Amino acid sequence: MTTAATPAPPLTDVPPRHGVVRNWVGGAWMDGDGPLLEVHAPADGRVIAHTPQASLRALDAAVDAARRAQPAWAAVPLKERVQVLYRYRALLERDLDALSALIVEEHGKVPAEARAEILKAIELTEFACSLPQIATGEVLEVSRGVECRSERVPVGVVASIAPFNFPSMVPHWTIPNAIALGNAMILKPSELVPLSAGRIAALLAEAGLPAGVFGVVHGGREVAEAICDHPDIAAVTFVGSTSVAQAVYRRATASLKRALALGGAKNHLIVMPDAEPAMTSSNVAASMSGCSGQRCMAASVMLAVGATDAIVAQVVEEARRLLPGESLGPVISREAQQRIERYVTEAEQAGARVLLDGRGVVVPGREGGFYVGPTVLDHVTPGMRIAQEEVFGPVLAIVRVPTLDAALAVENGSPYGNAAAVFTEHGGTARRVAERASAGMVGVNVGVPVPREPFGFAGWGDSCFGVGEITGRGSIELWTRTRKTTTKWNREAGTNWMS
Ligand code: NAD
Repeated sequence: MTTAATPAPPLTDVPPRHGVVRNWVGGAWMDGDGPLLEVHAPADGRVIAHTPQASLRALDAAVDAARRAQPAWAAVPLKERVQVLYRYRALLERDLDALSALIVEEHGKVPAEARAEILKAIELTEFACSLPQIATGEVLEVSRGVECRSERVPVGVVASIAPFNFPSMVPHWTIPNAIALGNAMILKPSELVPLSAGRIAALLAEAGLPAGVFGVVHGGREVAEAICDHPDIAAVTFVGSTSVAQAVYRRATASLKRALALGGAKNHLIVMPDAEPAMTSSNVAASMSGCSGQRCMAASVMLAVGATDAIVAQVVEEARRLLPGESLGPVISREAQQRIERYVTEAEQAGARVLLDGRGVVVPGREGGFYVGPTVLDHVTPGMRIAQEEVFGPVLAIVRVPTLDAALAVENGSPYGNAAAVFTEHGGTARRVAERASAGMVGVNVGVPVPREPFGFAGWGDSCFGVGEITGRGSIELWTRTRKTTTKWNREAGTNWMS
């Protein structure tokens, strides 16, 4: 006997799967304040949760808990502190599938991208586990019988304000290193992707992190500003768009905090006529489309130098293979989808040629999703908005230039400075780009040149405000102060030395 399938209820009648998101304060869940925002699954537009817009009461409580917990945590030797992170790393591995699935749901990444994000979170945790060998002080004999010793001391209560595009990896840029080095940390996730942060909190607690050392406070601008102003927070990191990075950097430093604020990007990939075609085209296509182009390291402009028509054609063929809803995820919101399509339409109207058009894509069965298909525009000119502003979607703008110097002039003209890359088989050309590109992270035949630990992540120009790096060895300076102790025991040093 067959029964007729019950028709699915309209999406609006289904209660959100994750309910109302709560804050993590002093080792317990706490409700937020203020109105609730809807959290949408970008793959189908469905509301999957509600999140508090401004958890200001929770922020005060989380900072208070952190302030009380931090001195005892700092008193635990570094080698013992990282034992928590060894256990945490094992829990990330244990829950790899579930954590990846949550990213697929709240962010829309395709499963392989979500899994890669959690694997990167594991790698970042591994680096923190190595800090006992790296975050060392030093002892020197500075005069006869006199030694100077420097040691690293945590900053105190610190905060991390995160963007939507990596719900787990970007928080892991800061959490493991900051807490391993003896700080207590408050994370404010993006209100667009608030779910992964709760899993991070629960797993850190399961790994044995003392209550209060890590807190999660949800909300948007109001909470970020309250973090910048809070008198008991000593350092703030921010990752997000440039205009907000500038505002956060100004506000946090105005209240005399340490601050490092990473902003947006406009990354240029220079393709030389001698570039290896298959490797170059697959790298360029992967760089512009990975995470649907929502990466601060994504290729945005391809500077095609001289006779590169064959490579351009191959890039288009590589990009054409990407299937929205299968190998290419959605973008984060309806507004983002419309903004990206506007950039393409405006460039087309200004004379760019659309070689591959991802506008108006609808994935069958997911009509409510926020999809933009892979898009490639040729004969974009450097003056067009699409060549200058961050698009943050799976869109590649190809600018034709006659020489390497002309390519470098375009790249150097961008106020951003996150990443640049060159594709060539010529060592001298590669070196010239590495020396003259105005970006903090340069790739040679690498489309997404993220430095791996212990090298630190940070761009230049409008892509980064403040000194230092957010990951790797460079972050040790951010999360610690050095105390220098000068000691004299030997009477032969003379009674007057530095007295
Ligand atoms: P966003 O600037 O809109 O938001 C980032 C964070 O700031 C969120 O937590 C948000 O709640 C908060 N916020 C938003 N407006 C605010 C305001 N006026 N004052 C204070 N806080 C505010 O960025 P997004 O859209 O979530 O993320 C995408 C951006 O992040 C892109 O520009 C991308 O290039 C950038 N990004 C940069 C890096 C990097 O390493 N440079 C890495 C990842 C993402």
